[in-house]
Amino acid sequence: MNKEKSGSGLLLAMLTAILAGGLSGYIWGPAMGSVAWLGELFLTLLKMLIVPLVAASIITGVAALGDVRNLGRMGGISITYYATTTLIAVSIGLLMANLWQPGTGVDLGASTPAHTTGDIGISDLILSLVHPNIIDAAAHMKLLPVIVFCILLAAALTTIGERGRPVIAFFDGLNEAMMRIVEWIMLFAPVGVFALIASRLGEAGGGEAFLAQLTGLGRYVLAVISGLLTHAAVLCMLLMLLARRPVIQYLGYMGTPLMTAFSTASSSATLPLTMEAVQQAGVNEKARRFVLPLGATINMDGTALYEAVAVLFIAQAYGIELGFGQQLVVLLTATMAAIGAAGIPEAGLVTMVMVLEAVGLPLEGIGLILAVDWFLDRCRTTVNVFGDSVGAAVVGYLTSPDKKAGN
Ligand code: ASP
Repeated sequence: MNKEKSGSGLLLAMLTAILAGGLSGYIWGPAMGSVAWLGELFLTLLKMLIVPLVAASIITGVAALGDVRNLGRMGGISITYYATTTLIAVSIGLLMANLWQPGTGVDLGASTPAHTTGDIGISDLILSLVHPNIIDAAAHMKLLPVIVFCILLAAALTTIGERGRPVIAFFDGLNEAMMRIVEWIMLFAPVGVFALIASRLGEAGGGEAFLAQLTGLGRYVLAVISGLLTHAAVLCMLLMLLARRPVIQYLGYMGTPLMTAFSTASSSATLPLTMEAVQQAGVNEKARRFVLPLGATINMDGTALYEAVAVLFIAQAYGIELGFGQQLVVLLTATMAAIGAAGIPEAGLVTMVMVLEAVGLPLEGIGLILAVDWFLDRCRTTVNVFGDSVGAAVVGYLTSPDKKAGN
């Protein structure tokens, strides 16, 4: 069977799995907990690949860039893309929260007290880039220090000539082998996705309980989702204008990772599938190997947007007016908070503490949005992953010497 055909078959299977999972969870509710282990199995298989894949991909990606100037150019364009799209995302979030006014008139009495984890400052963010023990960082899935180490290692390997080559070749082989395992795991993806969706909806108490939660916070949910859709449209425009790619075709390639992002609520766990899909789409190899692992860790447009809406929602619910200056503080801190969030479920909820503190809002406010966060987490993760994949295409196009779409 050719790759195109098996790709569309998988897409159809994934779509069916999501719908069937949603329907089963809706109807049978908590009983679907019995399939939760299948979702866990899928998630664990993906997580198993993250550290070797990130390391091999970054090392070979950076080494392929040749000298440090090329790394500087690729890094510069990537960081500019990440920063610009994240700021656009937060601005859309602020706009939506001002338009929908989701928090006005919310009953504070019903909120569950939040469990917060304390302050996260900018210095913590910078310190989180490094770790004294790289094995320990890898063991605890702290990806940023692993990425920083791998960039340094690759840069160093390119400066030691002959002796560096076998090491780079080793990581190249490792990368290829990891991608092969990804292909195998993808065969199991529809089962995993079905189980993840069905069991999570079941855990929420089934369809009726879920709908009640959603409608209880209706305007807030609408503000976040309409913001995410608007941002996705902006990303599609960037894809057309800056990467010269047909949107529908690219979305076709990205279907599997996007649905996996929705099912797992984790950009990091989705990363192996994102890499596979972007490879299929023919995005420049150097760009994809460098941009995707970094993006999955620091580029979170959906998270940034959601944090802006959530913080304004909390302010409105407490009857606290945030003026232009304070909304500017939200813009900057939500960007930092999104960079600081790990690519795991509910990470954005934790880093939001930083934004709330910056504008002096009560941290307990988080309790107001807890009930629906598991659902919105999935929506924002999908946009996070889409943002990374568009980033790979854009950086790939802008850094390729002949400016042909793709390679
Ligand atoms: N779950 C998100 C992700 O993995 C992060 C977040 O909680 O916003 O991309």
